Order: sequence, then C-alpha cells, then structure tokens
Amino acid sequence: MTLEGGCACGAVRFEASGEPWRCGLCHCMTCRKLGGSVFNAFAIFPREAVRITGTTAIFRSSERGRQHFCPACGGQVFALETGGDEIELRLGAFDEPDRFRPTYEGFIGRREGWLPPFPGIRHYAGNREGRGRTE
Ligand SMILES: [Zn+2]
Ligand SMILES: [Zn+2]
Repeated sequence: MTLEGGCACGAVRFEASGEPWRCGLCHCMTCRKLGGSVFNAFAIFPREAVRITGTTAIFRSSERGRQHFCPACGGQVFALETGGDEIELRLGAFDEPDRFRPTYEGFIGRREGWLPPFPGIRHYAGNREGRGRTE
C-alpha cells in the first residue's frame, strides 16, 4: 500500500509505503504552537518507507527535533529526529482522510477540556515511552 500526501499548495509531497509503526496525538505546547491547532495527529513510519519531494523549510523544535514545513504555504508536513530512523507524518497532510486511527495521546495535561474523550486510547503524561513498532 502506498499513500500520498503533501502541503496545502502541493510544493511538498510525500509517498508512504506500508503500514505506519504507530499513530498518535500530541497535546504539547510545541505541537499546539506549530500547527495553530489544539493538538497534533500523526502517523510514524520507518524513515526508509517515505519518499519526500519538494524543498522544505525547517524549524528546530528541540535539540534533535526538526519540523519540516512548506516555505510557500506554511503547511506542516513531517518531522524528523536527528539520528533517528522514524518519520512523523501529519495525519492532516494525507490526501485521503480517515486512513489511520490514533492509539495514544501524549502530554495529556495540555488537553483542551472541551474535547470529548477518545475511547480505548492510551494516555501519557509526556511523550509516549519507548520507540519503534510497539504501541
Ligand atoms: Zn505548500
Ligand atoms: Zn507534541
């Protein structure tokens, strides 16, 4: 399976092959401010499963975190960690909606009070612990 996506203007595009390792939500202040939305929804793929075309601008969101966005439209498309083997694709950047279901929420303390609970989803006080395939 290959799924495509990209930014709002189409200058940055991606092709993701296979299934994501995991899919989650983050309520942290960085994710909020980056997207201007109250939480971030994303799918994590192995880095080698995703092909990117187009040139991105990069915001250094932490020591290792690199947020890639389109310099033309400002659309958030993906994030990488220096030295990491994963790529975080924004769920909203996929061309086809409703392909993935998040299984966890990070930084739960920053969650908006008006959001309904999402049943059957795990909560983390900070970032999800652990890496790789396991949820
Ligand atoms: Zn764009
Ligand atoms: Zn976050």
